[in-house]
Amino acid sequence: MKHLFVIIDSLSNDYLEKSNMNFIKKFSKQNKKFKVKMNPSFTNRYEITMGKTSKENDILFDIVMGDSPYKKLKRIFKPKTNFSERKILTRWLSMVLFRTRFNPVNIPGFLLPYFSEDKKINQMREMERKRSDSSFFSMLEKKWIDTKIIVGSVEDIEFMLKSIDSDFVFLHYSRPDPIGHVHGPDSNEYKNEMKEVDVSIKKIIEKNKDSLETVIITSDHDMVKVKKTIDIWNELTNIKSKLIEDYLFFINSPVVRFWFKKKSAESEITLILSKMEKKGFGRIMKDKDFITYSITKNKRFGDLIFWLKPGYCFVPDFYMGLEKTKGMHGYLKFSDLPLIIKSNKKFKTKPKFSRDIIKVMGEIFGE
Ligand SMILES: [Zn+2]
Repeated sequence: MKHLFVIIDSLSNDYLEKSNMNFIKKFSKQNKKFKVKMNPSFTNRYEITMGKTSKENDILFDIVMGDSPYKKLKRIFKPKTNFSERKILTRWLSMVLFRTRFNPVNIPGFLLPYFSEDKKINQMREMERKRSDSSFFSMLEKKWIDTKIIVGSVEDIEFMLKSIDSDFVFLHYSRPDPIGHVHGPDSNEYKNEMKEVDVSIKKIIEKNKDSLETVIITSDHDMVKVKKTIDIWNELTNIKSKLIEDYLFFINSPVVRFWFKKKSAESEITLILSKMEKKGFGRIMKDKDFITYSITKNKRFGDLIFWLKPGYCFVPDFYMGLEKTKGMHGYLKFSDLPLIIKSNKKFKTKPKFSRDIIKVMGEIFGE
């Protein structure tokens, strides 16, 4: 292994500085450390590997309106007012029956026919692996650098590494994310997981220290402790406008998105959201937010998007169901993330955003 690129899921710069991730902290002092900003999105990794914003990639949420594999369910399910959690078994059964990879998570059955996975993300995933022109893997490909991508837990990564002999290894430690959601970023579970990641990276770097020329360590988003939960589901069941007939909605934990079929539904719902705004729970996304955060605007993401304030979360939502969420990310703000670079080659770029990492890579691996 000559080059190592590591993404530690859900590690904020603040957390790292206060944490017991002693190896990474020491490593950052011996090498170059930057604090970079990541735009709000639910598809952050592509901003790192493609070097483009949500607007340029035209991706934002993983689940969008339209072209659902579960279309046939329309005739079966009637709208329900209580939120019932789906069982894992029904989830898998429906995936098998409808021959889809699209995991319905906790989307209520009667809403399933209206949503699908964003195909753009699948394309992006393929592009990333096919080494398209815009990904940093393409840069490596052009340099004939043999590259391997491994995504998983500490155990998965360490097991896979045993049989890998590539020059460039891209590791994505993905387990801190679900642990952060369930237990919170201040929990022992999260701390232990981050410590394990730290030890794992230490082992990999020490084992390969004679051959390693480049090491880049960064993260894809932060993890905020949830202090207050809001039940928008209940709020919406008490309104005049009819779900499906007049409007559609999707709850993504810190965000609720609406699609309107009737003007009256738009007015009624905007009024509810304005009240929530006044209470200081969050705010309706405005045109200038799309510009400030370089976010793509597209009907498939919603006609109206309401974003909760950091530390707030919708429960129930269509990912975690009725589970008490203790940690969340994806708020309408920039995440401050660590970026540590060790390289034998000099580079001039001072990365300010996660998407600038690709520029540094260009200087290290370019002409
Ligand atoms: Zn997450």
